[in-house]
Amino acid sequence: MNSLTEDLDRIFRSEDRDLLERLARAAQEMTGQYHGNAIALYAPLYISNYCSNRCVYCGFRADAGLKRKRLTLEEVGKECRALSETGIRSCLLLTGESRRQSPPSYIKEAVRIACRYFTDVSLEIYPLDVDEYRELYRAGADGVTIYQETYDRRLYDELHLAGPKKDYDYRFQAPERIAQAGFRHIGMGALLGLADWREDVPRLFSHLRYMEKTYPGVEYSLSFPRIRPVEGDPRQYHEVSDRDMVRIISVARLLFPRSGINLSTRETGAFRDRVIGFGITKMSAGSSTRVGGYAEREEDYDDGQFQVHDTRSLPEIKSMLTSKGYDPVITDWRNIVND
Ligand code: SF4
Repeated sequence: MNSLTEDLDRIFRSEDRDLLERLARAAQEMTGQYHGNAIALYAPLYISNYCSNRCVYCGFRADAGLKRKRLTLEEVGKECRALSETGIRSCLLLTGESRRQSPPSYIKEAVRIACRYFTDVSLEIYPLDVDEYRELYRAGADGVTIYQETYDRRLYDELHLAGPKKDYDYRFQAPERIAQAGFRHIGMGALLGLADWREDVPRLFSHLRYMEKTYPGVEYSLSFPRIRPVEGDPRQYHEVSDRDMVRIISVARLLFPRSGINLSTRETGAFRDRVIGFGITKMSAGSSTRVGGYAEREEDYDDGQFQVHDTRSLPEIKSMLTSKGYDPVITDWRNIVND
């Protein structure tokens, strides 16, 4: 272990409450210095949920026998309009991981449409080659998020039974290809709990450190989703407590003062409200994880990949932030041409 990894291991295993409090206070201060009180708000927009992979921890895997949906381009427009009418100006387009059902050409058209409604369009899609990423960048997308899930290569192989996602290296190298394609923003993360988070988080930090050194012009952000066991998966995953999350977020802020840190709507509203101050700079609001979930809010079916625990609307999240002294930021971008 190198010294950073050793230090992190000691901090992550420490039971010293004073240490945790000192970390959290220092993280709070550093967040104020680098990011002020700003919290950027965005919403996910699922345009497809087809999947070609079999990840054992996911109820949405290719063989789950679920009803799937992919929006037509006309429906993408309606969905974008419906979401933008809620006041959201920054959206994250998600496609599921099926190259066959949602090829790069489809994503490119969806990006073009989304750019008419939003000032910031990011993507969470299956990994692509540099040329394909570049096409999406030129179509107007600003950022790409990709999670490695776990950095334990042996476990990764065990958990990803079939499909293109089984290729650890191609996924691991995706952030580099995204940077080479010209994107301004890259989101990285791991699904905490698949492996012992005390081992995965330092590897995620090393990955980000490498990216920062190699591609210094890019803005990075981190996310720390926690695994929630799905029906029929007999595996025991590693616990990641709320206190662990505070520790992870605080250390991330101290090691990467400039990076964004994103807090998922998978977390409860109460937990999100509690940890904002420790380093969070970005939150989703008024989220739907259903394909077509904004234009058809009344439709009675549930195809969301995961349950949204914080169901508050954009105005509710804004008013919570304001009451705590934060500045909710709807858009900090102006449209520029990506070429
Ligand atoms: S985690 Fe993503 S890629 Fe894996 S099975 Fe679920 S939807 Fe498919």
